[in-house]
Amino acid sequence: MQNGVFCISERRLSIYSNYMFNAKAYSAASATSPLAATMIARRDPTEYDVQIEILYCGICHSDLHQVRNEWSEFIPTVYPCVPGHEIVGRVTHVGSSVTKFKSGDLAAVGCMVDSDRTCAECQAGLEQFCPNPIYTYNFPDKHLGGVTYGGYSDSIVVDQRFVLHVPSNLDLAGAAPLLCAGITTYSPMHHWGVSKGKKVGVVGLGGLGHMGVKIAHALGAHVVVFTTTPNKKDDALRLGADEVVISKHADEMQKHAGSFDFILDAVSADHDINAYINLLRRDGNLTLVGAPNKPLPVAAFGLIMGRRSLSGSPIGGIPETQQMLDFCGQHNITADVEVIPIQKVNEAYERLLTSDVKYRFSIDMASLKYE
Ligand SMILES: [Zn+2]
Ligand SMILES: [Zn+2]
Repeated sequence: MQNGVFCISERRLSIYSNYMFNAKAYSAASATSPLAATMIARRDPTEYDVQIEILYCGICHSDLHQVRNEWSEFIPTVYPCVPGHEIVGRVTHVGSSVTKFKSGDLAAVGCMVDSDRTCAECQAGLEQFCPNPIYTYNFPDKHLGGVTYGGYSDSIVVDQRFVLHVPSNLDLAGAAPLLCAGITTYSPMHHWGVSKGKKVGVVGLGGLGHMGVKIAHALGAHVVVFTTTPNKKDDALRLGADEVVISKHADEMQKHAGSFDFILDAVSADHDINAYINLLRRDGNLTLVGAPNKPLPVAAFGLIMGRRSLSGSPIGGIPETQQMLDFCGQHNITADVEVIPIQKVNEAYERLLTSDVKYRFSIDMASLKYE
């Protein structure tokens, strides 16, 4: 262990002096600055590193929160901030001991680029629960100092353990959001045993919800979408829903009382979760993947009667993320994306605030060449 620490600090010195290169990126200089073109340092690949030319990067709502320092209580933003954790691209260089990838392979990086690798969670392949994770941006960078820089860039260098394979049949622009929105919805469905014959509800049809519908449908479930917006009905059916319920119609809700095995709640605005808990059958589970700012009141009897459970879920671990990508490859699932050049990223952030996108933005990183 001590030896390892020694190696890292020695390595850092050498990297500082020689072994890094400049990459193009888009960064924010402060919480109120728009994102703008810049140059950042990336390390040259060390022994186990994979260097990736980034082709597409999805825009996640977390990017906006982090850029604007809206999570200052938990993870204050260090500027300049280069967001982006839905990364797909092509391998351009590999370190001497890399076995998982070779130059020319498709590759993806999600929300994490490292972890302590020694805790029980990491050893179980559940790196998302590691107490010492290194997220893809705004986390301490042990190689170069400062913080990690994300995917709004033409390249990234990541240890092979945190790099994923992308099935070659997938549209790459649409595959990028699988790395956050895809795994965030796949992981709880996998954990709670969503499969053929199960009845699954998806609350909210946005970036997360639309992935939830596609994945639940491909898993063989009977999928019911809950929405407040009647004009989303046709889209929900197109995405794979079997039924659509307008959640403000109490009689429509009542018809489904006590019938769901699992409900994925992807709403980040204030809403009544008790109305959904009551739709669960015995031992049914409702998992929150949206994060409303205010605490949600829960009526105890809704959980007690029927032994129902309420939980939350973040992304997934590395093995499960690979499993999700392979599953999406088998079923040809990608996100519905609006592809934009990076020059439109600030406009896209404004549109994200009004949910004016179907259903996720994906940045075509070739546009960075014009900067
Ligand atoms: Zn995300
Ligand atoms: Zn760990």
